[in-house]
Amino acid sequence: MRKQVRKRKSGTTEPSTVDANRAIDLVVALMKVPGPSCHEEQITKQVRRRLIAAGIPASAITTDNAHKKSPAGGSTGNLIVKLPGTIRAPRRMLMAHLDTVPLCVGCRPIQRGDSLVSGNPKTALGADNRSGVAAILNAVLEIQRKKLPHPPLTLLFTIQEELGLFGSRFVNVSKLGSPKLAWNWDGRGPERITHAAIGGRTLSIQFHGIASHAGGAADRGVSALALAGLAIQDIVSGGWHGEFLRGGKVGTCNLATIHGGDATNVVTDRVDIEGECRSFDRRLLDRIAREVERACQRAVRSTKNCRGQRGSVTFQTDIEYEPFSIPKNAASVKAAESAIRSLGMKPELLTTQGALDANWLNARGIPVATLGAGQVAGHSLSERLDIEQFLTGCKVALRLATSPELSA
Ligand SMILES: [Zn+2]
Repeated sequence: MRKQVRKRKSGTTEPSTVDANRAIDLVVALMKVPGPSCHEEQITKQVRRRLIAAGIPASAITTDNAHKKSPAGGSTGNLIVKLPGTIRAPRRMLMAHLDTVPLCVGCRPIQRGDSLVSGNPKTALGADNRSGVAAILNAVLEIQRKKLPHPPLTLLFTIQEELGLFGSRFVNVSKLGSPKLAWNWDGRGPERITHAAIGGRTLSIQFHGIASHAGGAADRGVSALALAGLAIQDIVSGGWHGEFLRGGKVGTCNLATIHGGDATNVVTDRVDIEGECRSFDRRLLDRIAREVERACQRAVRSTKNCRGQRGSVTFQTDIEYEPFSIPKNAASVKAAESAIRSLGMKPELLTTQGALDANWLNARGIPVATLGAGQVAGHSLSERLDIEQFLTGCKVALRLATSPELSA
């Protein structure tokens, strides 16, 4: 049989270093397990089995009911592992999402150059985010194998991240043991610390007009299409579309899809618009949605048919992900910086325009910084895992899980 992944020289025995072969075998094994969002049961089982084989008592491993609260449903909740410490220090939490995008199902990891890629050309690799799962699972397996001292630890493996952060959104926070320091692995560069992420709202608008014959009774109609046009004009000319600055804060708004009308001889009685807005600032995020709603109401008020009747608008907005920003001097950030420095790298602080599980944990009062473990080009057929970056991510995870110097 063809050897799929080349072995490295045997691992070192220094307690705080990572056995490269074991870490690579682990991530390869995890990437092979299918686990698209809402179907995380196999990968959950696999992680649980490895923890138990390493001597973690089954009673320390639980799942919550996040899937029962998720609008997407799903077969299992978040996997939560709580370990007592062997040294006295505040509890630390390490987290990563278990699910992959559906494109990863059927992947066969093979080594190509310095990377792992999918040997199946029809699938992505699933390094997003099995690299993160492997980095934290590997840290705990190393702790167990080498009997490394460690503070109290919580591991949180979330579900349904790719679908809309539903695992982190509906996590049962009372099961996490109030960690004072927390890190999420879901990215590329192991020296990169994402400490702030943008928040997002959905915008859903329905204009209801009054249908009428477009020739014989056009004056009795109220065109939902005209209402939509007026509202869009108002939003754009008011400076609430595209990217804009308000009070020094940046926001974006994108009205993205529009549907309506059935026939050219009928005054359009319904138009649906879907869009989204984003900002790092929660108040601005809410204000954008309010401004869009007001513009829609102005359009409705300004338009009447010959009988003085108006159309109407139904407006809905939902928080998709909470924005967050943890200060640069927060304990989770400082600890990550010192772990990264101790491995000879220069830490890099970042903000992201994307959404992370960390958004919801931070919104619930747990200060989570996000780190990388070698995933490149996720959600695509050219996805790969940078082996060196992955191994460095594993080392950072092990330091953060064990190092006594990091304090809250
Ligand atoms: Zn991810």
